Amino acid sequence: MKILVNGIQSNLRFSSAHVIPGHESCGFIHGHSYFVDIEIEGERAGKFEFVVDFKDVKKYTKAICDELDHRVLIPVYNKLIDFKDFDIETDSIFELKKQKTISFKIDGKGYSLPSVDCVLLPLPYTSAEELSKFFAETLSRKLAETYDNLDYISVCVNEGIGQGAQYKKEFVE
Ligand SMILES: [Zn+2]
Repeated sequence: MKILVNGIQSNLRFSSAHVIPGHESCGFIHGHSYFVDIEIEGERAGKFEFVVDFKDVKKYTKAICDELDHRVLIPVYNKLIDFKDFDIETDSIFELKKQKTISFKIDGKGYSLPSVDCVLLPLPYTSAEELSKFFAETLSRKLAETYDNLDYISVCVNEGIGQGAQYKKEFVE
């Protein structure tokens, strides 16, 4: 059986700024009001014969939304972002997280932001595609700690109403 959680109605939302380096129109810092829809399929199990407790799904998803909300999302693995005093080939992302100011260049444009305003993500892009994969992988790891009856989770990250990317992650035994 499958359960569905609607991101708008369940308040699984976040508003963030991002940039898609090298993109003609998305290469400028801009923002979206995102919302996250969730679909989980699995066997009904446990005392209440739930697939999964809605409360858990919403709590774990909301925690990720809150982490990203009102921040600039920085994809640390993007090849066009040249960070000051940080080389992704040799340095750990944790070193970058320790810096008080995140300074980088994209195609000659210089950015300098307080690190408390940023979320550094281990991703090549902060597109809806990469964000949906990030949510699905993070949520599947979290749910696997308490559930062993689930087949897959599918997460759709919507960049506002009308466009989103969906990623499906299978649970492996
Ligand atoms: Zn965008």
